[in-house]
Amino acid sequence: MTQAEFLPACVGFGRRFERAGSAEGRGAPAAEAAPLGNNADLVAAPDILALLPPCGTVTAWMMRAYAREIFTRGCVTPRLRMRWCGSKISKREFGVEVYRRPTLSYGRLGGVCVCGQSLCCPVCAPRIAAFRAAEVAECFKRAASMGYEARLVTFTMPHSLGENLDVLLELQRRAWAIVAHSRSASKRRRYSLGYHLGNEITWGNSNGWHPHKHQLRYDKPGTYCAESDRADWLSALDNIGRKTAGAERRAFDCGTVGDEAGARYVAKLATSVEAQGRAVGSEIASAATKGRNFNSLLRSSFADRDHGATSTWLEGVLVVTSAKLASVRWSRGLRSVVGLSVEEPSDEAVAAETVTEQDQLLGCLTPMQWAGILRHSVEFHLCCAAQNGRSAVNSFLSGLELGQLCDDPASFHVYAGRWDKKLKC
Ligand SMILES: [Zn+2]
Repeated sequence: MTQAEFLPACVGFGRRFERAGSAEGRGAPAAEAAPLGNNADLVAAPDILALLPPCGTVTAWMMRAYAREIFTRGCVTPRLRMRWCGSKISKREFGVEVYRRPTLSYGRLGGVCVCGQSLCCPVCAPRIAAFRAAEVAECFKRAASMGYEARLVTFTMPHSLGENLDVLLELQRRAWAIVAHSRSASKRRRYSLGYHLGNEITWGNSNGWHPHKHQLRYDKPGTYCAESDRADWLSALDNIGRKTAGAERRAFDCGTVGDEAGARYVAKLATSVEAQGRAVGSEIASAATKGRNFNSLLRSSFADRDHGATSTWLEGVLVVTSAKLASVRWSRGLRSVVGLSVEEPSDEAVAAETVTEQDQLLGCLTPMQWAGILRHSVEFHLCCAAQNGRSAVNSFLSGLELGQLCDDPASFHVYAGRWDKKLKC
């Protein structure tokens, strides 16, 4: 699907869902549920096509709004933070600030919560991946200058269609704990600077969920023994009852990483940035990494109306968020030995929108206006309008019958009380 086809298809998908759902529920014929004219269709679609910001960001914002629809339709618990990513107003804010960003083709919204989910969220995961990949690449450079060599080791285990992801993750956790506490692992640690560990979860139509780990490790030249690492992993698989003939051939993969691009791969591989990640690291990608990740499943659900992908995606998200699984973690002490700040920023802090000095505040939206923007699923369209200044935002808002931007956020407290429960995180 091209960008030109994709964008109009996205506009107003939320309303289509509501109508389809309500018509079905009441048993009413489709014609009765036909939409009345709506300003959002008239105003938003031409604007977004004219402005054409980078496709990746547009898609991510649209997918996040679509994910909210799935959570609502699936009656997912309101306590799930990802359900409110990009929609709820932060606790200490009265409304939503709208900024113009002179250096980019779309503006910024301030005061909206993000979930910081580094594996599943279409917006937070790529942001976190970009940050973590830069840090990993910096660590790779410093480790290389200290004389250490880098390797990417992939640990997988046999799995089959129909197995629950939570069961597979528990088995993987047990196998990993066995390897980490083995005697040969402590020997390997003696000559190692440390490692980054990336969690990747993919889905295949033939074999179901496929959780696996990528370890980017730094060792003194000539000290790492891949055979001993492989034997430890196979022994751990034996212990959890997953050692098969196939596992002996494919459960362990090891290759040297010669450059910074390869190092970045471990951070990007584990997240939604599938295309970029695989392109960058294609030389070290193994057969174990094939399949669809959360981003691909969500896109299939949206673009192909693939109901199987929808339920698979939702099942995976619920397991990953309840297990608090993160994309990339560093081994203890690695940050300090390579001279990086010891305090690792949380995923949530990395994903948060940070207003810069160049950003120009155009005005604020009341909680009620923001609710209207969300109802029409036009958050990104609003960001695009912001690039054309305050008057463009005002005409965009009036096209949706949402009034004008406000200058005084303090006056919002009148509304805030009323909308607190519904719109605040
Ligand atoms: Zn998020």
